[in-house]
Amino acid sequence: MTPPTLPVRTRIAPSPTGFLHLGTARTALFAWAFARHFGGAFVLRIEDTDVERSTQEAVDQIVEALRWLGLDHDEGPFFQMQRLDRYREVIGRMLDEGSAYRCWCTPDELDAMREAQRARGEKPRYDGRWRPETGKKLPPPRAGVRPVIRFRNPEDGVVTWDDLVKGPISIANRELDDLIIARPGDDGHEIGVPTYNFCVVVDDLDMAITHVIRGDDHVNNTPRQINILRALLGPGGELPRYGHVPMILGPDGDKLSKRHGAVSVLQYRDAGYLPEAMVNYLARLGWSHGDDELFTREQLVAWFDGRHLARSAAQWDAAKLAWVNAHYMKAAPDDRLAALVADEFGRRGLVVDAAQAERQAARCMLFKDRCSTIVELADWLEMYFVAITPREADLVAHVGDAVRPALRDLRDRLATVPWTAADIAAALKDVLAAHRLKMPQLAPAVRVMVCARAQTPSIDAVLALFARDEVLARLRGV
Ligand code: GLU
Repeated sequence: MTPPTLPVRTRIAPSPTGFLHLGTARTALFAWAFARHFGGAFVLRIEDTDVERSTQEAVDQIVEALRWLGLDHDEGPFFQMQRLDRYREVIGRMLDEGSAYRCWCTPDELDAMREAQRARGEKPRYDGRWRPETGKKLPPPRAGVRPVIRFRNPEDGVVTWDDLVKGPISIANRELDDLIIARPGDDGHEIGVPTYNFCVVVDDLDMAITHVIRGDDHVNNTPRQINILRALLGPGGELPRYGHVPMILGPDGDKLSKRHGAVSVLQYRDAGYLPEAMVNYLARLGWSHGDDELFTREQLVAWFDGRHLARSAAQWDAAKLAWVNAHYMKAAPDDRLAALVADEFGRRGLVVDAAQAERQAARCMLFKDRCSTIVELADWLEMYFVAITPREADLVAHVGDAVRPALRDLRDRLATVPWTAADIAAALKDVLAAHRLKMPQLAPAVRVMVCARAQTPSIDAVLALFARDEVLARLRGV
């Protein structure tokens, strides 16, 4: 792609009607990485014009999810509902200039219009009856009807743009009708909250957005938005470039939704995924850099120049995400993992005192290799803090009469050895020799009694991270 001439400015424009969806997060990631790659700015805009469904809680969640992913914005958040005066000013100008006009059609009239069109086998569309034309006589304004404002869409020609993702797209203007850009306000103002397509255009213009990267559910809006932009910019004004990213599909090929499991970014945080793993995984949904599957945020920014965006939809793959997360868990510093496990314990209502938490980083180091998420790591480490109950089946399978004398002997030796993994290992060896047992007989028995699990990492290392008294207490019953 030829490098952009203007300083790059991208935006993410979520509607605060719910949590941050994975698809919106992926779009935000692309817009962010693109801006960062070109040393530009990333803008956060909250599209809250659906007043009924927008909530402050959703705004907070969206901001928090973006923050967690590390998708820092340079400007905003801007709120559309705080920009009403600006929208009204622009519509006022358009009415004066003739690129917008008042339409007094009632809903009943519009229904009748569409019905007649359908009956004639035509596609239903606004027929332009209030559209001003030179020499045309308009019907008189209706008493008692408050008009809506429509955009005067060009009748001829074609809207064409070279989509960053999909390549050239053309739509004939005769496919588009004069869309409503504002309805009368509840507050008595002639212009209420304008419609989505209008607000987006004014915002993208005012915020000097150079690249509109968004979901491909907006492809159909783009020709309308380009026409409004052209009307506002006049001839010669530069349009932003558009890039429409295909949606994310669930494993069954339908659009990824709640039905497929968690779709909220923060749910993944709470399920124990690391933000760098989410960023890495999301980036690969619809974008590639050769065969690279694992890369840092810095590499992503260095590589993300708007090329190699997939035209076809990407499919969510939970197993791959778990694999990516496991990779980042292994790479993460142990004290960071310990802090995340502490958060997870907090969510579980598990109170851990400072002395108990002391060796938590070492525990993380020992167990992280076998975990795909923080939640799994916390599941492992719980045994260091709460009483355990070995399963009956494990007791039967691993703690038989043949091994009990050896366990008692081990308990006695552990009461006095220095409390290190090496000394514990030596005690285990001595017990094996004295009782003519092999490690695969003794170790599982110790594991079941102390950890309530038949398999763990090296048992000497596992035991060394308990307090000695706790191990002795758990071996007391043998
Ligand atoms: N608010 C729109 C949405 O959440 C985004 C519009 C846009 O990116 O232009 O789908």
